[in-house]
Amino acid sequence: MRSGRNLPGLDALLADPALAAVLSGRRDGLLLLDYDGTLAPFTPRRDEARPYPGVVEILARLPEAGSGRFAVVTGRPAATAAAFLAPARPSTVWGCHGAQRLGPGQPVTQPATAPATQAALVRAMALALPVAGREALESKPAGLALHWRGLPAAARQALAERIGPAWAELAQITGLALHPFDGGLELRLPGFHKGLAVEALTRENPQTVLVYVGDDLTDEDAFQALGPNDAGVLAGRPDRPSAARYALTPPEELLRFLSAWADAAASRQPQPGRSHAQ
Ligand SMILES: [Mg+2]
Repeated sequence: MRSGRNLPGLDALLADPALAAVLSGRRDGLLLLDYDGTLAPFTPRRDEARPYPGVVEILARLPEAGSGRFAVVTGRPAATAAAFLAPARPSTVWGCHGAQRLGPGQPVTQPATAPATQAALVRAMALALPVAGREALESKPAGLALHWRGLPAAARQALAERIGPAWAELAQITGLALHPFDGGLELRLPGFHKGLAVEALTRENPQTVLVYVGDDLTDEDAFQALGPNDAGVLAGRPDRPSAARYALTPPEELLRFLSAWADAAASRQPQPGRSHAQ
């Protein structure tokens, strides 16, 4: 695996043979997008993490079904990410790292959480709350996240040292999974990760080229689940090994890429008024 710093950039991505086939309309394509750090800049107030200017307008041009559509794969609850992107309509939103699936007009599906698991998450919250404070903790339908992005290094280290071992012990006892991400720690239901979304969409769309854009450690599961003709794209250039094949830097390069995708999708749409003209 290459470091994110050394991955080929936007020009190489646009010249990728499979992507070029999608952009020219010769193959169907499905765009998978992470939310935080990819479509939206990080902000200490997670409930105010709006997309970069221009993102929603471009995504709103994409079709809701068929080639060129997009899906979101996020650690956030699915409904939260969908609300940030309205009026753009993802074909699917995978929330809580693949544990939730939200389709248009459908209720969210997610695994049942056993009472013992719920109790473990309550216990994890009780352990962390006095140390980290409410703002740093994000309770989710299928997990609990501790966020320390934006804090001084000493404060991050203090949180990691005071909460990490306690959560690790709790995970071991209860069967929850403890995952680090860029900017914190998360306890989750075991067995869920973003690669599950890629695997499901690959099964459902075997002839379709998947392009996945994400920035986080948790996106590596998705990159690894992609097929040889799909494209994994690292958002930003973190200095860590990545299974992505390309990298681009938000927001400028992201907007250029999304525009190219949307232009191609628009050129495939039937022209209004022309379908009956022949
Ligand atoms: Mg992210």
